Amino acid sequence: MAAPQKDVFRLGFVGAGNLAESITRGVVRSAVLPATSIRTTHHRADRRSLFASFGCRILETNAQVVEDSDVVIISVKPQIVRQVLTELKPFFTKDKLIVSIAAGIKMKDIKDWSGKSRIIRVMPNTPSAVGLAASVFCTGETATKKDEERVSKLFGAIGKVWTADEKYFDAITGLSGSGPAYIYLAIEALADGGVAAGLTRDLALGLASQTVLGAAAMVNQTGKHPGQLKDEVTSPAGTTIAGIRELEKGAFRASLINAVVAATDRCRELS
Ligand code: NAD
Repeated sequence: MAAPQKDVFRLGFVGAGNLAESITRGVVRSAVLPATSIRTTHHRADRRSLFASFGCRILETNAQVVEDSDVVIISVKPQIVRQVLTELKPFFTKDKLIVSIAAGIKMKDIKDWSGKSRIIRVMPNTPSAVGLAASVFCTGETATKKDEERVSKLFGAIGKVWTADEKYFDAITGLSGSGPAYIYLAIEALADGGVAAGLTRDLALGLASQTVLGAAAMVNQTGKHPGQLKDEVTSPAGTTIAGIRELEKGAFRASLINAVVAATDRCRELS
C-alpha cells in the first residue's frame, strides 16, 4: 500500500522574531515541513541570515510573504498587529489561513483588521524556545478541519497543543502564559532553600530545576493525579510531610491559585 501523502504547504511568518524562530526550528527538526516551504522577511540582516541558514526563503516584504503562503503566522508584538493586518488586508485572499499568536489580541479584532474569518488564534508560551510549549488554539468561523490539523502539527512541533473556546483565553494566559514565571520563582526559592541547608548554589539550582522537570514528567507520563503522586512519596512522620506542612502554613497552594486568578483578571482588564 502507498504511504499517505504528506501535507506540504507554504508557511509564512510576518514577524521573524523569537517565537517564529522557535516554531521554524521545531517544524524543520520534526520534519513537519521542509525549510524550503517556510518564508519570511525582516528589516535586520542578522534575522534574515538566521532564517536563511535554516533553509527558509527570504522575501522583500510582508506582502510578498502573504502572497507566497498558504498559512500566515502573524508573529509581531501585539501592539503592531493592527497596523500589520490593516496593511496586508488586500493580500489575504480566501485560500489563506491567518494564524495569530499575539497575546491578548481577540479573534474579533483580527477579523475586523484583516477582513477575513479564516483565522486560528493560538496562545503558546515561552518554553516554545526549548520545544516544551503549552499551546492552546481557537478557531474562526471559516477555518477548516484541515486548517486545524495544520496548526496542531505546527505547534505540536514546539510542545503540546490543546483547543479551547476563546472565552477561556484570559484564564489560559493566567495559567500557562504567565505560569513559567511562577515556576521560575519556585525553582529559585527551592535552590535558596538548598543553599540555606548547606548546598552550593550550583548544585542547589541544578537539583531544584531537575526536580521540577522530573515532577512534571511524572504527572504527564504516569497519568496519575498529582495528589496521588504526593501521597506516594509522603511517609508517616517522614521528611516530605514535614516540608509539606511548612508549605501549607505559607499558603503555598492558595498562593498559586490566587496567582492564576489575579493574572487572569489582569488579562481581562488589559484586553
Ligand atoms: P519578538 O519581538 O521576538 O518578534 C517580533 C518580530 O517582529 C521582531 O523581530 C520585530 O523586529 C519584527 N517586526 C516588528 N515590526 C514588524 C513589521 N511591521 N513587519 C514585520 N516584522 C516586524 O517577539 P516574540 O517573542 O517572537 O513574540 C511574537 C508574538 O508572539 C507576540 O505577539 C507575543 O505576544 C506572542 N507570544 C510569544 C510567546 C513566546 O514564547 N515568545 C508566547 C506567547 C505569545
